[in-house]
Amino acid sequence: MEYAMQILNRCGPAVRPTRRKRFVNEVSCAYCGGRGADPKYSSASGCPVCRGAGIVRVMPPVVACRQCGSSGRVGGDLICLTCKGVGMVSVPVEADTCSRCGGTGEEGVFYCNACKGQGIV
Ligand SMILES: [Zn+2]
Ligand SMILES: [Zn+2]
Ligand SMILES: [Zn+2]
Repeated sequence: MEYAMQILNRCGPAVRPTRRKRFVNEVSCAYCGGRGADPKYSSASGCPVCRGAGIVRVMPPVVACRQCGSSGRVGGDLICLTCKGVGMVSVPVEADTCSRCGGTGEEGVFYCNACKGQGIV
């Protein structure tokens, strides 16, 4: 019985921890700006990134995508390949600054291959 009480105490009541940007697992879709509509076509067709939901699930921890400046798009309305249009990318928990590009995510005119332009690995 005591054991059950301990479990209960540990699990609830659910206290929502203050949202820390690094640990959100649902983010507003960057590609459509959370509207759920495909900005490229009419609002009748759903956003290809979030499938019309306006939010997308990500695996925390996440960081803002440096490749598209967390806009989810590159070159107009093309979906950013690095973050798949989400504007956020998952990083390993023990992510560290990329030694190849020194955290800039860039190598000359191209993005750094080692960190996929994120500046962290
Ligand atoms: Zn969307
Ligand atoms: Zn991106
Ligand atoms: Zn790099």
